[in-house]
Amino acid sequence: MSKVHNFSAGPGILPQEVLQQASEACINFDNLNLSLLEISHRSKNFEKVVEEACALVKELLSLNDNYKVIFLGGGASLQFGMVPYNLLRTEGTAGYLNTGVWASKAIKEAKMIGNVKVVASSEDKKYTYIPKQFPVSGDLDYLHITSNNTIYGTQMKKFPIARCPIVCDMSSDIFSRKVDGKQFGLIYAGAQKNMGPAGTTMVAVDERLLGKTGRSMLSMMDYRVHIKGGSMFNTPPVFPIYVSMLTLRWLKKNGGLEWIEKVNNEKASAMYTEIDRNSMFTGTTEREDRSNMNVTFVMHKPELEPEFDKLWKEANISGIRGHRDVGGYRASLYNALPLESVKALVNVMQEFEKKFA
Ligand SMILES: *Cc1c(COP(=O)(O)O)cnc(C)c1O
Repeated sequence: MSKVHNFSAGPGILPQEVLQQASEACINFDNLNLSLLEISHRSKNFEKVVEEACALVKELLSLNDNYKVIFLGGGASLQFGMVPYNLLRTEGTAGYLNTGVWASKAIKEAKMIGNVKVVASSEDKKYTYIPKQFPVSGDLDYLHITSNNTIYGTQMKKFPIARCPIVCDMSSDIFSRKVDGKQFGLIYAGAQKNMGPAGTTMVAVDERLLGKTGRSMLSMMDYRVHIKGGSMFNTPPVFPIYVSMLTLRWLKKNGGLEWIEKVNNEKASAMYTEIDRNSMFTGTTEREDRSNMNVTFVMHKPELEPEFDKLWKEANISGIRGHRDVGGYRASLYNALPLESVKALVNVMQEFEKKFA
């Protein structure tokens, strides 16, 4: 099997050794001679998996014991509704920063639950930047932000300081850099971008924020129910949780967030250096807000796209077509993507320039 350079935006690339271990667990998990897929989620062996996954999340995000970590189904999109349902008081108001399609979807869902105030938006420039100056009044129940905008390729380099709790959708850059999780009241992330496979969403929440909304709640939508059940109120997404745990183990073993931040900076810098140097391409976002995870760029002569597409496909590169809303190209540089893959793409861009400039 020849190596494919996988720049997929999500579900994204996972470490080869994690895929190997995951496939083995499908046949014989923990030497039980049973597949992970056919044992009870309440077995001791699987309980240990959830415990380890939660402990790794807390360690990597520097969370203290005020925080509870749970793994849920329903994708990050379910959190667009669960967050306001659990944190937005019936008479309260939540603030939202609108930095892209995912943020707008979160706003739409929150409006179904209660009062929402959009504190700032970059929609005026097609979400190509992150708004920096905006008022956050202290009486907001929370401020919702998106740390990395997967579709547009922008990333918050600094997080706002607010007098209310901050809720962060970290789906596409969680565990990609050093972050003190304690600056947030709640962090959520769909696993399939940078933490594991599709099928589970991690939620880390400061428990002291819960139970204040004044609404009676559906059990499955209540964080407290899932916390009390240790992510096992009902049958959890067993396999995605297991593979996420393996990926976090891989991350820790290799040096944790300090290590991966260096690697990710190196990969992003190689990509942006080439985009800025190469006469055929241009980046699509404000420089200071460029994402280290999703690098978006377009071609000066779009009529040459088929030629470029041929070249990268020949080089075993996969998944760099841009999102349908933005067009052009998007190279996603998630944790498991090696620098070597970025070099392969840079080579193709240089070859393309030599042939067609
Ligand atoms: C992919 C993505 C989502 C949606 O995730 P689902 O798990 O498909 O619901 C939400 N927010 C961000 C930032 C994303 O990248």
